[in-house]
Amino acid sequence: MSVPFHGRTVSGWVLGPAQDVPGGRLLRVRKLRSRVRFFDPDMLGLLRWASERYLAPLASVIERSHPPRVAGEEEVAGTESPISGARMPVTRRPGVTSILEAGRTTWLRPLPGEEAEACIGAVRGSLDAGRRALVLVPEADPVPGTAAAVLEAFDGRAVSFFGGDARTRYRTWLEIRKGCHDVVVATRPGVFAPLGDLGLIWISREVHPAHREDRAPYYHVREVAMARARLHGVACVLASLSPSVETAAAVVSGAIAASRPARAVERGAAPLVETTPPEAEDRSTRLAALLKKARSAALVVSRRGYGVARVCRSCGDPAKCARCRGPIVAERGAATCGVCRATGACANCGGGSFGIERGGAERVAQWAGHVATVPVRLATGEGDAARPSETGVLVGTAASVKDVGHVRLDLVAILDPDRALARPGIHAAEQSLATWMEAAAWAGPRSGPGRVLVQTRKPGHPAVQALVRWDPVGYLLGEATHRAEAGFPPGHPVYRMAGRGDLAGELRSAGARTVLSTSAESAERGTLCLVAVPPDNLDSFRREVLRLVGEGAIDRVEAEPQL
Ligand SMILES: [Zn+2]
Ligand SMILES: [Zn+2]
Repeated sequence: MSVPFHGRTVSGWVLGPAQDVPGGRLLRVRKLRSRVRFFDPDMLGLLRWASERYLAPLASVIERSHPPRVAGEEEVAGTESPISGARMPVTRRPGVTSILEAGRTTWLRPLPGEEAEACIGAVRGSLDAGRRALVLVPEADPVPGTAAAVLEAFDGRAVSFFGGDARTRYRTWLEIRKGCHDVVVATRPGVFAPLGDLGLIWISREVHPAHREDRAPYYHVREVAMARARLHGVACVLASLSPSVETAAAVVSGAIAASRPARAVERGAAPLVETTPPEAEDRSTRLAALLKKARSAALVVSRRGYGVARVCRSCGDPAKCARCRGPIVAERGAATCGVCRATGACANCGGGSFGIERGGAERVAQWAGHVATVPVRLATGEGDAARPSETGVLVGTAASVKDVGHVRLDLVAILDPDRALARPGIHAAEQSLATWMEAAAWAGPRSGPGRVLVQTRKPGHPAVQALVRWDPVGYLLGEATHRAEAGFPPGHPVYRMAGRGDLAGELRSAGARTVLSTSAESAERGTLCLVAVPPDNLDSFRREVLRLVGEGAIDRVEAEPQL
């Protein structure tokens, strides 16, 4: 509705009856903007939780919890139905697995290639118990195998809530709210989908970076889904071959349950992984030998393009982008900055000709074309062209490893894991391992003809060993220990804050356990702080942050920044 506020007219939502009414200064609502009820008390509880957890204004969390309004759709849909409706009877059948226990989160490790079957089973269990189900996938294009399988299995009862134009999205949201669909398959914003009688939230590929919202208000689908499970009495399943560090730590502490096949079954279904040292341009003799025999293969390399510019041919300086000093990459026949995407120009002389160190997905694809006896395709990361197929070689980066359902390849090769592990960022290692396992699963069980080749100079590295032994948890717990030693233990909310004055000191006394700050040498540029807050301190920390924002000592807060 529109309301007068400090002399202006602003939009607002009705949250509910006020506890205490201020005397004398009540003004009339100017206009009712929509008759649609955007949240009920249960959903408001979740939105408040998100607002508090991510230190974001409640209004912006509400705004982002539904697609932008298309007023015409509201007239068509009508507004009579409440969000939740009458609760359906909960008749839990014996035999429905414990992953459907209300309020509980479970890490589920499917057998390779069988996430879709596991998901369909869980959704069916929820429906049989008279409850609805929400399946969240990280990407929409191409439609992930799990999403497609669920939509097909529950045709008539399931709806996809991703992609489409603004009108379709808003119409679908209104339909979900009215209870027209029992199963909703969605991407990230769907974690707030107004499904009444919800029994299950399934998160596919829990480690995928797209589960994190990278615009304000920031949130992570895993955390919001787990909160929704607690608040609304819903079962939450985090599905992954290799979980996040947070999930692995929570499983060990008992905060969340684990559901995985018996170790012997897992071992039997796991692919056969061998290692070999890399030679020039991320190739090896062993790779060439396996590739020559393979009818189908996927080669995963961590760099895009054809190579990296090392020196400027005009002035001899090390090659650096003239605009941002980032590395220059040879890609599709042109030199481009790998950071800002500007046309490659030497930072020293502006020259555009470089000495290139070859290596990268494009160069590997060119080489594979000479070695393989089947067609070679370069994955661009979008569309069905990126799907590995039963004949042919697919070359791509980690971004091209998708949920493609059930495939069987003769060869899966991880070309430069050492480089992938050396990437900066606290999530680089867990994301690399999850991607390798997803790709390695394409080789099929060790009893079959498929092989996984890992080209590494560090075959004993715990991440490589986790892949070889097909058991990620020990390695991830080691990562959890490293994070704790660095001051950022799993489960501690992390924020990046920009402000002024002695911000670091203020945040420390507000209850932040770890505070890393830029030196406050220049007052006008302000201070940037990275903080980790023990969960028990979060309430009091939030109040102090709101006070600092009010005093102008904090300009900007980013929750769970990419580190
Ligand atoms: Zn640049
Ligand atoms: Zn130059």
